[in-house]
Amino acid sequence: MLLSGAAAIALASAPALAATQASAPAAAATVAVPNNILLQDWTGPYDGVPPWDKVKPELFPGAIQFGIDEMLREYDAIATNKAEPTFANTIEAMEKSGQRLDRVLSVFGVMTDNMSTPEYQKLDKEWSPKLSAAYDKINLNGALFQRIADLYGRRDSLGLDAKQLRLLTRTYEGFVRRGANLNEAQKAQLTQYNQQLASAFSDFNSKLLADEGTFTQASEAELAGVPQDVKDAAAAAAKEAGLPAGSYAIRNTRSAVEPVLSFGSNRALREKVWRAFANRGDNGDANDNNATIARIVKLRADRAHLLGYKTHADWRMQDTMAKSPAKAMDLMMRVWPAAVARVKEEVADQMAFASKDGLKQIEPWDFRYYQEKVRKAKYDLSQDEIKPYFELSNLVKGMFWSAEQLYDLKFTENTGKVPVFQPDVRTFEVTNAKTGDVVGLFYLDTYARTGKRSGAWATTYRSRARLLNDNIVIGSNNNNFTKPAAGQPVLISLDDASTLWHEFGHAIHYYLGDVKYPSLGGSPRDFVEYPSQVNENWLLTRPVLDKFARHYKTGEAMPDALVKKIEASDSFNQGFATVEYLSSALVDMKLHTKEDGVVDPDAFEKAALAELGMPKEMVMRHRLPQFGHLFSSDSYSAGYYSYLWSETMDADTWAAFEEAGNPYDRATADRFRTILLSTGNETDRADAYRQFRGRDPDVKALLKRRAFPTN
Ligand SMILES: [Zn+2]
Repeated sequence: MLLSGAAAIALASAPALAATQASAPAAAATVAVPNNILLQDWTGPYDGVPPWDKVKPELFPGAIQFGIDEMLREYDAIATNKAEPTFANTIEAMEKSGQRLDRVLSVFGVMTDNMSTPEYQKLDKEWSPKLSAAYDKINLNGALFQRIADLYGRRDSLGLDAKQLRLLTRTYEGFVRRGANLNEAQKAQLTQYNQQLASAFSDFNSKLLADEGTFTQASEAELAGVPQDVKDAAAAAAKEAGLPAGSYAIRNTRSAVEPVLSFGSNRALREKVWRAFANRGDNGDANDNNATIARIVKLRADRAHLLGYKTHADWRMQDTMAKSPAKAMDLMMRVWPAAVARVKEEVADQMAFASKDGLKQIEPWDFRYYQEKVRKAKYDLSQDEIKPYFELSNLVKGMFWSAEQLYDLKFTENTGKVPVFQPDVRTFEVTNAKTGDVVGLFYLDTYARTGKRSGAWATTYRSRARLLNDNIVIGSNNNNFTKPAAGQPVLISLDDASTLWHEFGHAIHYYLGDVKYPSLGGSPRDFVEYPSQVNENWLLTRPVLDKFARHYKTGEAMPDALVKKIEASDSFNQGFATVEYLSSALVDMKLHTKEDGVVDPDAFEKAALAELGMPKEMVMRHRLPQFGHLFSSDSYSAGYYSYLWSETMDADTWAAFEEAGNPYDRATADRFRTILLSTGNETDRADAYRQFRGRDPDVKALLKRRAFPTN
C-alpha cells in the first residue's frame, strides 16, 4: 500500500499532488511568519529535515491555519495578476505555491498515521474538512481558472516544450474534473460534499483504529502449535496491556493474527481470533463503520452526478491508465474464474487433512491452517522452516544491496544523526554509489504499535522537483512487524518479506524520480503499484538468498534444498491469494459503479460476493467495514483494481529480465530506470511502457506466474 499523509488528506481536491517544499514565493513575503517550528524552513543536513523532535499537537492548529491562509494568498496573487497570463506567471507560479502548507501536512500525516493519539484524531477530524474547503477555494477560483483556460486555449502558440504542454493540459483538465466549470450554486454544493466526505473519512479512520487496538486474550494451552517468537510477542503485548503474567494478547492486526491462523491447532481460538479480525468495524457498537460507509458512498455518487459523471468510478478513473470501469472489470474478470477454480482445488487438497481431524468442511478460520498442512505435504515446506533464514535486519541489508546492483542507490545507516518521530525508527543516507552524490534520506519505521495504523505503506516528505530546487528526496517505509521481546531477532514470513520489498519498491521509485515540475512527479493510481510490485521479484533471487537469507543462529546460508522447495512451491496457494485480493477489488468497483450510491454495506457486500461466486471457505482481504483503501480517503476508491493492473505490467517486466537471462541485467535495469522509474508522470505512462517493452503489457505473464491457464 502507498499512501502519503498529506496526500491522503488532500488527494480529492489538491491542485498538486506532490509534497514539495522550499522557501515561499515573494507574493506572501509581506506577512510575518509566526514563531512556530512547523512553519519554519526545515533545517539541518540534507537541505533540511523534518523537526520530529519538536512536534507537539498544540502547534498544528496555528500552523495549518497559517499555511492555508498563505497558500490562498499565493493563489489569489496569481488569479488577480494584472499582467496577461503566461505559463510562468500562472502555471509555474501555481507549482511554487502552497509549499509551507505541504510541509506542515507531511509532518501532520505522520502524526495521524504513525503516532496517532486521541489528540491527533481530534485534530484530524477538525482540520480535514477545513483543508478540503481550502483546496476547493483554489479549484473553484473562477479568475484563476480563466487564466488557465486562456492559456490552454492557445497552448499551441505558447512555445511550450513537451513537459510544459503536458503540465498545462493536465492542470486544465484537473480543474475541469474538480468542478471549475460549475455555476456558483453548484460550486457551493460541491464544497459541501467534499467537506462532508473529509469528515466521514476521518470518522472511518478513528473507528477502525479503535478496533485494531483491541486484542484477543489466550492461554498458553490455547496457543498450541503457534511459533515461539509469535508467543513471545503475544506475551509482551499482554504485559503492555497490564494482563496478569502467563497470559497472552493477540493484537487485532494482520501480522499478529495470521501466524495464529496458520499454526494454531486450537480451532476455537482460531475462530475467535479470525472473527475479531474479520469483523473490525462491523460489530454494531460505537466503532461500527457501516453507517459511515453508506454516507461516503452516497456522497460520492451525488458528487459524481454534480460533476457530470454517471458514477464515482467514472469520475475517479479519468486520470488513470485504465480510463474506464469497464476496462478494469475486463482485466479482473479475465483472471477471476481461473482463481476461483484454483481455490476449489486448494480446498479439496485441504479436506484430505481436515477430515482426519473430524472436520466436515473448511471454514475461513481453517483455511490458513490446512494450507500449511498441504504445503508441508506437497512441498515438504513449512512457512516456519523459512523464517529462521528471514531475519529482518538481514533482509533490509539485502533489499539495499539489490537496489545498489540495479540502480546504484546506496543506503548507509545514520540512525541518531537526524531526529526521528519514534525511538525505534532507523534512518539511512541514500547516495548514488557511482558519483557519491547524496540523493535522499530514508526513514524505516518497522514495528506495530498502538496509534499506528495497520498495513504497510510508503511516504515522501519531500519529493525531487528541480523547479523548486528540491534535489534531496526524504521518504519512509512503514511496516507493522511485531516487535520482538528484548534481544530476540525478528523472523518474518515469506509474505511479510514480500511486503517489506514491496514498500521498498515505492521508495526506490521516489529516490530515482527526477522531474522538474512537482505536479508531474506523481503517477496515475494504476501505475503507482507497478514499481513496488516489480521490486518484490528480487527477494527470491539467488544472490539475495545466498548473501542475506542466513540462519539467525548459525549464520549459514539457506540450504540449496530449501531454496529449491521454495521455488517449486512458487505458485502454491495462488487461488487463495488471488481470490482474497480480487474479491475486494471487484466489490470496490461494483460499489462505486452503483449509480444512486444507496447501499447497506453489509448487505451489498454479501450480495456482490454471492453474484461473483465467492468461495464460502474464505473472505475478502478487506471487508467493507475495514477497507481503509476505499474509505480513509478517496485515493484508492474505485482503484483497488490498480494492484492487478500494476501486476500485469510487473509480471511482463519481470519477464523482460528473465529474457535477458539475469535478474540483475544492467542494460534492462537501466532502461527500466530511465524510461519508467525516473520520469514521474512527465510522459504518458502507457507510451512509456510501450517504449520499454516494444508493446503493451501482456496479461499472459501474470497468468503464467500464478500457474493459471493462459487461454
Ligand atoms: Zn504499494
